[in-house]
Order: sequence, then structure tokens, then C-alpha cells
Amino acid sequence: MVEQVTLYRAPSTVADAGEIAGWLDDRIEPSVDVRERFTATRADDELAEEFAKTRVLSPYDRDTGNTMLGIVRYEQRALDSPEQAGGVIYDGLAVQRLLGERLPDGERGLDHLHIVLTSRALGTWGDHDGRWHKRVNVLGQPALVSVPGLYEAPAKPESYYKEKQKHALVSGDTPPREVLESQVEGDFLVEDDPRTTDALKGYVLQAFHYLETGEGFCVTDGCRLANPHRQPGVIDAQLRDPEFCSKHNDLYSP
Ligand SMILES: [Zn+2]
Repeated sequence: MVEQVTLYRAPSTVADAGEIAGWLDDRIEPSVDVRERFTATRADDELAEEFAKTRVLSPYDRDTGNTMLGIVRYEQRALDSPEQAGGVIYDGLAVQRLLGERLPDGERGLDHLHIVLTSRALGTWGDHDGRWHKRVNVLGQPALVSVPGLYEAPAKPESYYKEKQKHALVSGDTPPREVLESQVEGDFLVEDDPRTTDALKGYVLQAFHYLETGEGFCVTDGCRLANPHRQPGVIDAQLRDPEFCSKHNDLYSP
């Protein structure tokens, strides 16, 4: 049984750990506390190199890791100033392992769930199709919840990619969010979306639900514990009422 949940802040200010913890606290028995960014307090001299080993090198290559000096230095900078890092995908299970090794002594039991909000993009290898897939969260101890994963892992509507491509051909860059939103039908989340905090709540609860019950994602569309593969499904599950399917409403309604 989980008795304590600790949520670690993300570098990104659009993911408000305090608000997420308050939401969670209203819905589960165990007490919930918030701590500073995990790597700000738990990093050691080897961590940068270990992160370098978990880098995904190509979407179709299962082997990870590049520990050339420049890469390790980049990873050290990413630890020191995480708001400047980006553009890299990391092996989510390997990151979970290396952060797990750095959990505080005496807090490693499954009665104390640690949930790390991160600004890193995380992936897991798909044995069935031989490629990496971005993930919003990686369940287990510690659980990881990726802020960019929220924008990038669930696919956006088809017309989003068309508009983006069209714009890139004309002007060579990415169109502003307003343009995409007005041109693309269907709702989706973009980087630094003001709905980020709200949308992450269900993904944080999934981490608790998994450790407490052993159950993975909910199969009912629209439930906060579901794992939609497309953005409109994420909006429906995380941002629209009702919060839960009837089964999970009995467990988690505030
Ligand atoms: Zn459900």
C-alpha cells in the first residue's frame, strides 16, 4: 500500500507541481508532498554520463548512448540549466533505473511513491514494430511524467502536420500557434500550452493507480486514467468532464 507520494517539480513553469499535488491530495488517501527538481538535489558526478548512455540515437535503433566528451558536457549543462535543454529522446526505462538508484535512503520502498516531472522527452522501445515511441509517462518506482511527452507523444490531427509542412515550405519555420489553431480542426496541446498543468494531473494519478492496484491504463475513452494515442483523445480524457469512467469515479472522485 502506498502511504506517501512525493512529486518533484519540473523545470518548466507551465507544469505546476503544487497545483497537481493539491488535485491529487483531494483524490487519494496517502499524503502528497512536493519537492524541488529531482536532479537539483539528487545528482552526483556520474549522472551526466549516465544520462548520455540513455540517449536514443535513431528512431529505429534499439541501442542507446553516446558518451563522447562533448555529449557528456551537454548533459552536464542540461542538468545545471534544464530549461535550455531539449531535442533529445531518452530511454525512459533506463532513466527510471538511474533515478531510482538515486532515491533517498529509507524512501525506496513501494509504500513511498516518487513521481518525477521532467522536461526530457522519454521513449520506450516497441518490440512489435522495431522503433522508439515517445511516452507521456513511465509507470513504476520512481514514476516519470514527461512534459514534452504530453505535446509530442499523442499524435496531433493529420491537418496539423500538413499545415506545418506547408508553412515550412513557404517560410522555412514553424507557424505560430494561433495560425495552427485556426487552420487545424480538432483540439490538441502545443508546447507551453496553458492547459499543461491540468492535462498532466491524470498522468500523475496513473502513476499512483499503477503502484496501488497493479492496473495499467483504463480502457474507457474519456477517463483520466486512459492513455489515448491521439491529441483529441487526450483533451477529452484530461480536460473535459466527467473526470473518470464510472469504475474509477468510485475510487477517485474528490
Ligand atoms: Zn477509468
